[in-house]
Amino acid sequence: MRHPFFIGTIVATAIACGQPAYACQNPNDALNTSRIVQVDASNGPMYGRISRFASEPQFLRSKEIVLTFDDGPSPRLTRSILATLAKYCAKATFFPVGRMAMAYPQIMQEIAQQGHTIGGHTWSHPNNMRRLAIKSIEKQIERGFAAVAAASQQPISPFFRFPGLNDDGRALRYLQKRGIATFSVDVVSDDSYISDVEELVQTTLSRIKQQGRGILLFHDIKSVTAEALPQILEGLKNANFNIVHLTSKFTLVPNQTMHERLAKKLKSKTKQTATLSLAGFQGTVRVREEPQLRQTAPPVTHLAPERRKVELAKLRAKRVRNLIETIDGRAWTSIIEHKKTNAAQPSETTN
Ligand SMILES: [Zn+2]
Repeated sequence: MRHPFFIGTIVATAIACGQPAYACQNPNDALNTSRIVQVDASNGPMYGRISRFASEPQFLRSKEIVLTFDDGPSPRLTRSILATLAKYCAKATFFPVGRMAMAYPQIMQEIAQQGHTIGGHTWSHPNNMRRLAIKSIEKQIERGFAAVAAASQQPISPFFRFPGLNDDGRALRYLQKRGIATFSVDVVSDDSYISDVEELVQTTLSRIKQQGRGILLFHDIKSVTAEALPQILEGLKNANFNIVHLTSKFTLVPNQTMHERLAKKLKSKTKQTATLSLAGFQGTVRVREEPQLRQTAPPVTHLAPERRKVELAKLRAKRVRNLIETIDGRAWTSIIEHKKTNAAQPSETTN
């Protein structure tokens, strides 16, 4: 079914730059990034073969691949994927989920700093947006983008991918009106269903070779993907495929109210997370700003009223304003010792 809004209304959007894309640190390993394709999203174009609606003409040449990673960021896996991409000097497009970005803003910043393109994939990944009311659809889209932009701490691209690739006409009209390009895919790796590394490598490479080009879908929340990616990129390199880096002509303007609210939320969360370096200890600790009462004294309810009053006063005095919570026992011990010996104050840097 072709979407009427896409017929004849989309101007040509892909512009090729002839220059080599990046100064690569590992020229022997590099999977050639042959072109940067800059997309003008202002008319809300849609790309990718797998869609119920009409797509823009294929902008990739023969043996050109666009790498995309959905559903992250993942604290366990995204960094490994970034390291593999860096090794092969390949740039990708990430479609993170808003609430995941809010949970792991540091990883979002690393993706941005490494020069990858960042779009949006809704706030909470509703698998079928066709079942949602238009107001919920708009909220999912806007809140998702606002969260990703706030977490990345730099402008992101007006690029969107539907959760589960389940595109919806009402959502497409909204995205089009909003000047956001939609990216479906041409080749699925099936990393959501394949758990064996070797099988994922073979399936992905054979599908790419069969299609000859295309936007390739991965998920950076799948350990099989992180494990298979080096072999997949090596296979693409050996088969003389080139990587195309998608970029946007304009940056996304997030919903201002949502962006401000989410950025504020992240700021207060960052305040609570601090890295302390102590003498003889390197590690990460979490600092709670809320006063916490450590009930280490025996219960006082059985005491006589006057005595209870004294004990309660003592307990209140023990209230720790900035309770330091550690991620491992060793760190906790170090801090206790530090307090006992009254050594030099820890230096605190927010991250
Ligand atoms: Zn997804």
